Amino acid sequence: MSIGIPRAGGDKIGVAILGATGAVGQRFIELMVGHPWFEVRELVASDRSVGKSYAEATRWMVSPDIPAAVAGLPVKGTEARLESPLVLSSLPSDVAGEVETRLAREGHRVFSNASNHRMGADVPLIVAEVNADHAAALDVQRRRHGGEGYIVTNGNCTTITLVLPLAPLHRAFGVDAVVVTSLQASSGAGYPGVPSLDLLDNVVPFIGGEEDKLATETAKMLGGWERENGGRFAPAPFPVSATCTRVPVRDGHTEAVSVRLHTKASADEMIAAWREFRGRPQELHLPSAPKNPVIYRVEDDRPQPGRDRMTEGGMASVVGRLRPCPVLDWKFVVLGHNTIRGAAGASLLNAELACAEGWL
Ligand code: NAP
Repeated sequence: MSIGIPRAGGDKIGVAILGATGAVGQRFIELMVGHPWFEVRELVASDRSVGKSYAEATRWMVSPDIPAAVAGLPVKGTEARLESPLVLSSLPSDVAGEVETRLAREGHRVFSNASNHRMGADVPLIVAEVNADHAAALDVQRRRHGGEGYIVTNGNCTTITLVLPLAPLHRAFGVDAVVVTSLQASSGAGYPGVPSLDLLDNVVPFIGGEEDKLATETAKMLGGWERENGGRFAPAPFPVSATCTRVPVRDGHTEAVSVRLHTKASADEMIAAWREFRGRPQELHLPSAPKNPVIYRVEDDRPQPGRDRMTEGGMASVVGRLRPCPVLDWKFVVLGHNTIRGAAGASLLNAELACAEGWL
């Protein structure tokens, strides 16, 4: 049975946050303050934190004070039986796989940032504006789990930032090839992340596993779900060549992108495709939906993480510097907030989509 949108003044839907004390978990907590449909009731972290109150266990980083509604909640362990139907996961990948599978089998609707299940044959990898229709795979997954529970994933932070501007280009003109170089913020490595002496005054030209994720996750998200023969994901066929680097920026991943388009397009046509891009979150007026998921800035020196990462509350990809590429067709720069749109905000928007579309 699906859990619909709560009536005004009625009981909100209970939420458990896994990895609640970390960089992404804190963003979940922050985004959930005053949420009209959902309420944080359970918090889960490692043995280090179990038994403490959330305030005792957490080095709170994202705003001046821990929200009062969660400060006194006890932190539970991953083996605890949870009561909340909705689970938002920001567990590290060495533990997320088994824990999320068990919770889905117990009937929880799990929305995850971890990479373990993203490429699963019946697991939707959803950016809500881009491929909400991939939720059709949940029928197959629910049969496998034997109940109402399931796992929905969102992409890696770098991939979400890239896929938002690629999706309208792919729809309008077809994308034939992408070359991308990322400059990724330190919070992308979690807390405490990369040691400061490795990162300050430096650029680290390697982030384990990240370049493959940019290619495979982009292909899955921009591909389709085919219902024939029991259902399967059909990845988008174009190649993505990625180089990922870590830079001494606190929040906000910047990416320099070159694209080859199938149908030639002018700069004005590409900018119009970005400015007009909307998806189900905007049509359904979801609480966390940005008004414009892709913003184009005309200034020569934008986007910049220090100035632009909180655009649309951190929920938009900010694009700029569109210009001809002498190797492919066009090149541009895109910026996205890695722990908001690239992680917690993406999962929350997927959960809101599920609630509004009747598949929560
Ligand atoms: P983080 O800051 O290191 O936080 C990790 C969280 O998981 C903490 O709450 C930690 O609890 C908990 N944890 C660690 N080991 C555990 C264990 N063995 N059992 C149970 N809980 C455990 O990491 P993060 O950056 O928030 O990343 C969380 C997940 O989101 C990862 O899968 C990551 O790949 C993904 N992600 C991160 C970003 C980003 O920009 N940071 C973006 C997209 C996706 P304690 O405090 O008790 O140790």
